[in-house]
Amino acid sequence: MHPNFENTAIAFQLKTDSELERAYFLFKLIANEPLVRIGTAVTNFAIKAHLPIEGLIRATVFDHFCGGVNEEDCISIIDKMYEKGVCSILDYSVEGKEVEGQFDFALAKTLEVLDFVKEKDAIPFAVFKPTGFGRFELYEKVSSGKNLNELESKEWERVIDRFNQVCKKAHDLEVSLLIDAEESWMQDAADNVVLDMMRKYNKQKAVVFNTLQMYRWDRMDYLKQLHETARLEGFKIGLKVVRGAYMEKENERAEEMKYKSPICVSKKSTDKNFNMAIAYMMDNLDTISIFAGTHNEDSCLKLIKLMQEKGLTANQENIWFGQLYGMSDHITYNLTAEGFNAAKYVPYGPVKDVMPYLIRRAEENTSVAGQTTRELSLLQKEKKRRKLDL
Ligand SMILES: Cc1cc2nc3c(=O)[nH]c(=O)nc-3n(C[C@H](O)[C@H](O)[C@H](O)COP(=O)(O)OP(=O)(O)OC[C@H]3O[C@@H](n4cnc5c(N)ncnc54)[C@H](O)[C@@H]3O)c2cc1C
Repeated sequence: MHPNFENTAIAFQLKTDSELERAYFLFKLIANEPLVRIGTAVTNFAIKAHLPIEGLIRATVFDHFCGGVNEEDCISIIDKMYEKGVCSILDYSVEGKEVEGQFDFALAKTLEVLDFVKEKDAIPFAVFKPTGFGRFELYEKVSSGKNLNELESKEWERVIDRFNQVCKKAHDLEVSLLIDAEESWMQDAADNVVLDMMRKYNKQKAVVFNTLQMYRWDRMDYLKQLHETARLEGFKIGLKVVRGAYMEKENERAEEMKYKSPICVSKKSTDKNFNMAIAYMMDNLDTISIFAGTHNEDSCLKLIKLMQEKGLTANQENIWFGQLYGMSDHITYNLTAEGFNAAKYVPYGPVKDVMPYLIRRAEENTSVAGQTTRELSLLQKEKKRRKLDL
């Protein structure tokens, strides 16, 4: 039960030499902030101008961070990872399409994935994003407490119905369902819908998981309140706990609109908040299931230590670790080598439609100090190990 995150032979066991080289080259590019900025602008322009760059994107950044353009495309990756004990979570990563037809399409996709998942032990969770099922502005308006007009009320009912269809199916098929968290100014509306879904479908066990972004200083109180509600009403809670992906946007908006930023004052206080949430959940495992979505080694080790202190086995059924496909293989594969439950989010979708996701990954790796450097040093270590045939 002591994963060694330095073991690169285990971390990169599925990578061929050329895939290792490509990963190294990619992270080198991503480490260069001006290049990411220019690359993003050029790529966006090229896609809008219908220039034939899909092949290039596919062969580089897409194949590194995504499983394929559709579910079938992802199967070989899913099977290969599962041989090493790593589970997959298929993430239909088309973002920013704000029309009803697209929301219904995302709903159909998620329902389809649930059928697909039911057949495969390698895929223990399904996932979706609230704004995949409804307009951002609508979530924002509901979150603000303003009254909806008649058309908007009908639209909101359709959003709730999409949540309900997916959660009901997940419940009927006994597949757990992760629901991502997004910007704070739309999140209250999503949280309230998810709470109702937990009330309805988490009576016996946690099927529906919400996401707690611990870079928000108000989330610890939220967690305690949610726990109290679940205890009083008798339902289980599933929570994916992450730090959060929209920090710059959150801080900029708060400054522009002159309100107190919902983000913790420093990285250190986010880390403390994250660890506090994990500790709280670990003390209440009878009601709470944990999915720790993190690339932070210390956070993983802290969670493992708590598991050990409580005498739990590595494969405790309601504790999961999760990383994104293409990132932090040293964590995922070394965790499963020691018997822990770990899964990769495997994004998929048409190349041009997953660009917002890919750009976020590039920007995140550029801005998250240390993360790219860490990936690069591990890749370099593995290249060297293979060369020396150690
Ligand atoms: C499986 C999985 C699912 C995810 N789902 C979601 C999701 O639903 N919603 C979402 O928003 N994100 C999600 N994420 C993204 C996640 O939030 C980022 O990967 C994460 O923020 C990177 O943090 P880390 O825990 O890996 O650790 P680290 O790399 O140690 O932490 C970096 C993070 O710390 C925080 N931070 C950095 N500097 C500061 C500062 N100065 N002040 C305060 N905080 C700071 C930021 O959140 C930053 O992203 C998911 C990630 C994974 C792996």
